Parts: sequence; C-alpha cells; structure tokens
Amino acid sequence: MLNWNDVLRFADAGNPTPDRVVRKSEEEWKAQLSDEQYHVTRRKGTERPFSSGMCSLFEPGLYGCVCCGTLLFDANEKFESGTGWPSFTQPVKANAIAYHADRSHGMTRVETTCNTCGAHLGHVFPDGPAPSGLRYCMNAVALKKQAASLEKATFGGGCFWCTEAIFRELDGVHSVESGYSGGAVDNANYRQVCSGSTGHAEVIQILFDPAIISYRELLEIHMLTHDPTTLNQQGADRGTQYRSIIFTHNNEQRQIAEDLLASLKDGFRDAIVTQVAPLETFYKAEDYHQDYYNLNGGAGYCQAVISPKLRKFREKFKAKLAS
Ligand SMILES: [Zn+2]
Repeated sequence: MLNWNDVLRFADAGNPTPDRVVRKSEEEWKAQLSDEQYHVTRRKGTERPFSSGMCSLFEPGLYGCVCCGTLLFDANEKFESGTGWPSFTQPVKANAIAYHADRSHGMTRVETTCNTCGAHLGHVFPDGPAPSGLRYCMNAVALKKQAASLEKATFGGGCFWCTEAIFRELDGVHSVESGYSGGAVDNANYRQVCSGSTGHAEVIQILFDPAIISYRELLEIHMLTHDPTTLNQQGADRGTQYRSIIFTHNNEQRQIAEDLLASLKDGFRDAIVTQVAPLETFYKAEDYHQDYYNLNGGAGYCQAVISPKLRKFREKFKAKLAS
C-alpha cells in the first residue's frame, strides 16, 4: 500500500516503471477525446467541482484512464471526500500512476498522471482516510468506469520467490504480492516464518481480472507448477512454511478448489496433500522479497531453482502469458 512518503519519493526521485507505454500525437488525442476530456487530460485542466455524478457513485467496479484504458482505481478504495471531485485512497497498482511536483498557482502540490499515457488525472494529498492516509482527488472526465471488478486469490506452494515469478507473467494478473498466511502469530515476519514455528506458510496473493483469467485456471496453473504431493516440502525446501495450500476468500472459491483437487487426483502418482483453508489474514512480506526474481535474477537460487522452473512454465502455458 502506498503512503505519502512513497508519493514524495516518486515525485522527487522518479516514478515506478509502467507495465506498458502508450504515446499518441496531440492530433490523435484530439480525434479520440471529447473537448472536455482533451482539455483536462492533455492540457492539465480541472473540471468544475460537483459537475459529475461519479462523485456519488459507489457501486463495485474499476476505474480506467479515459485515454488509454489502463486500470487505475478500484471502487473499494473510493470514498466521499465532500470536495466535489471523485476521491480514492489507493491506486489499483503501485505503478499505475505517476507523480510530479506541481508548483503552479502559487501552491506546492503533487500532480498525478496516468503512468501509461501521461494523461493528467488530478492531484494527491496527505489528508485521506486511514490506513494509507492518501486522497487521490481526480477529475471525473479523466476516468472511465468499467463493469468488472478484480478478485483476489491466495495460495502457497513452496518458496514465494518462485511462485510469484510465475504468476507475474500471466495475462489477466494485475499484481502479485509475496506474504505469509495461516499462522498463529500476528504481524508475521520472515525470520519468524523461516523458523517454521509460527505455522505460517509462504504464500502469494494475486489480484486478477476474472474476465481474462478464471480462478480455476489460476489454481490449475498453481497445481501444475509445484509438487502438491510432498508434505511440508518443495524440493530442497523443508518445513511447514513451504506446505502446499490454497487459502480461499469465499465459499465459491472453496467449492472450485475442492472440485479441482478431486479432478486432479488421478493425474499424480502420489496422493495430493494440498490443504484448502479459509483465508484469515495475509501479511505482506518485507519489501526485499517483492518481485525478488525480477530484481535478483542473477542470484544463485534464482539461476538454479527459479529460472528452469520458469522456462518449463512458459513452455507449458504459452497461450496464457501476457504479451
Ligand atoms: Zn492513460
């Protein structure tokens, strides 16, 4: 979750790399957008407060950039700020939005733009609700409401450096976080979990678009990219923190998981030991564990264990990879 320090750091030292970049000429933007959309997004305009019904819309769904369609906000993060502009406390992904120091109009503010296409969206302020404390004050005309909503999936199958690297490559997966679930201690950290004494499993939590990839497909890939027949062990990694487990977010997920495990039963030589349990708390792992493979690809463990696993995965699931 981003906080005000992250925002200041991005505005000062540079923004996170976007998943893709969209560039168009002014003429192309003019042809695509209405006059007001063009004025706000490409000319840094501001719409009149209380001019859009979007302020009072709180139905579930996602908000994308009106220029390039990149998903920016989830309705779950929207709140009534009373300002007359739609307000959010958190973007859907840390690299969805770019931040820039803005000293216009005699004020020092932080401007927000779409990190994919550079569209001006509005500003962000440090007076939003807990826990992030952020208020993204957006122009409604810069946003486009989308019908679908993202869903979460959480599971473990050994070292989270491996599982995270795999799921980051799939089309329809918006983000993957490494963390800990299923243990008895609050605020788990790596040292405690590594000792195997807290009962937590190393897990990943995936935010995905069910219109592109289904929960069942994610589970299938999970089951076929780790060994679900070795109890509390994945290769050389041993301990309950490496157990094979699916943490379900609701009854529908539980049903899908149980059906899938039953249907895969005959496909493995040994019995499947994967547990299915309701998710209680997910603790995000320390920052240095996030996106570990992509940031540390040269490290010994990555070369020896993750790279060959990824090669096999890419071969097998070619059709499901993001382009
Ligand atoms: Zn955009």
